[in-house]
Amino acid sequence: MEGNTLRDSLTIEICNLINEPFLIIDSFGIVLATNRSAIELLGGRDKLLGRSMREIPELAPLWSSLIRSREKRESLKERLRIGDLDYEASLHHQFDRDGTQYTGILLYEISHYLTIENELLRRNRELMIINTLSGTFISSYDNERIFSDLLEKVLLITDFTIGWIMLSEKDGLVLKSHKGISLDLAKNLSEGKASEIIEEMLVERQPLHVFEREELSRYSIFLNERIAFLGMIPLYMGDNLLGIFFLGSRSERVFDFDLASMMSLVGNQVALILEKVKLFEKTRHLSITDPLTGLYNVRYFYRALNLEIERARRYDDEFSLLIFDIDDFKRINDTYGHQIGDDVLREVSDIMLQHSRKTDIVSRYGGEEFVLILPRTGKEEAVRIAERICEMIRQNPFRPGNGDDITITVSGGVSTFKEDGATPKELLYGADMALYTAKARGKDRVICCSKDLTGKYHKEVKE
Ligand code: GH3
Ligand code: MG
Ligand code: MG
Repeated sequence: MEGNTLRDSLTIEICNLINEPFLIIDSFGIVLATNRSAIELLGGRDKLLGRSMREIPELAPLWSSLIRSREKRESLKERLRIGDLDYEASLHHQFDRDGTQYTGILLYEISHYLTIENELLRRNRELMIINTLSGTFISSYDNERIFSDLLEKVLLITDFTIGWIMLSEKDGLVLKSHKGISLDLAKNLSEGKASEIIEEMLVERQPLHVFEREELSRYSIFLNERIAFLGMIPLYMGDNLLGIFFLGSRSERVFDFDLASMMSLVGNQVALILEKVKLFEKTRHLSITDPLTGLYNVRYFYRALNLEIERARRYDDEFSLLIFDIDDFKRINDTYGHQIGDDVLREVSDIMLQHSRKTDIVSRYGGEEFVLILPRTGKEEAVRIAERICEMIRQNPFRPGNGDDITITVSGGVSTFKEDGATPKELLYGADMALYTAKARGKDRVICCSKDLTGKYHKEVKE
């Protein structure tokens, strides 16, 4: 008895040498000994000594894994939450020769390690988002595909299953890409049916707006979507609204600080990409347009002409080429100065744009010469269009400075694929010959290419 007491108090003294909460339990899970820290943590000696750990709520979750590790005769480490703190429980087993089993449980507080671990995980995820998204622009050569690539990547690295991107364009917000929504909703979004809801939210100028199931059920366009959580992230560059990014899911999400910061990080990255795309578009636009008139430049014209020939060959189709040259333009410059000359070039360009079709390629070929590609257009129709342009320019009152209105006229030449040529060289030569003839016959008219204009040349080219 005395020996036992001595041994017990010795055990307690030894246990107290350990700073962390520590307990010894027997084969049945009964607590045989504890130290001071364990008593402080788990609340009173009486609550622990002689009690089964299965009845101690803080320790009970360890029981089943304790049994398993004992069977395998292996130590065990397991995470445990007590109150507001996180612990790692280390379990070591002792097997006596007589079959008695003891387990020592050491509770090591790891809350601050967990905070660091979570922070690292969060940073890691942020880096992954930045890294994954910044690759989008670099790997995409096709601007239209960028948005679906981007959306796909965002959904892959976040836990969202629904998303769409809308861009601010001249006529308002335009749906660029969507994933995980019904075709009905996509159609409604394309038709601007969400504009009112969006504008209402934009007024608040919040960096992020979250709609939960209940709020969404108030809007008819979301009624059949079963969306439980939807985040709307306006993408601003300064005061400029580039677009809006939507992310959502059909299961509930806890909207906490982590989720909010992850969503704004995604928003920032997407905004940066949008800015890059816009810059890229602007540079591309500059590289293919003529700065004075805003028409396509000659470089773009040649590319478009080659593509059009390829297309017409493949589909056994026809198309026409128009060349215009302003009549007596040198005299305009000489009489009114270059500045006025430039104004006339701009005005003539505008008339050509206005009286051609959206699919036509209108370009400035050189000084006061213009060339148009009219896809899927035969000779007769091309001549009609050319004559209309000619007439519109003739009828347009040009006003040089404060002086009287003057009349400007142009001469035009038409050639048609394949009857007048099948290569850029042949077609341009054909249209040029026709233009030359129009000039020779008194200007202010349209002449179309014919065999007697080009026959000799085509023979030479082909030979
Ligand atoms: P034609 O009826 O035979 O075509 O006579 P034209 O005077 O129009 O032809 P010409 O080729 O002799 O003159 C073209 C003029 O266009 C000469 C050039 O100074 C002028 N020009 C070329 N590019 C520009 C430009 O960008 N701005 C201005 N203002 N003039 C230009
Ligand atoms: Mg000329
Ligand atoms: Mg001229």
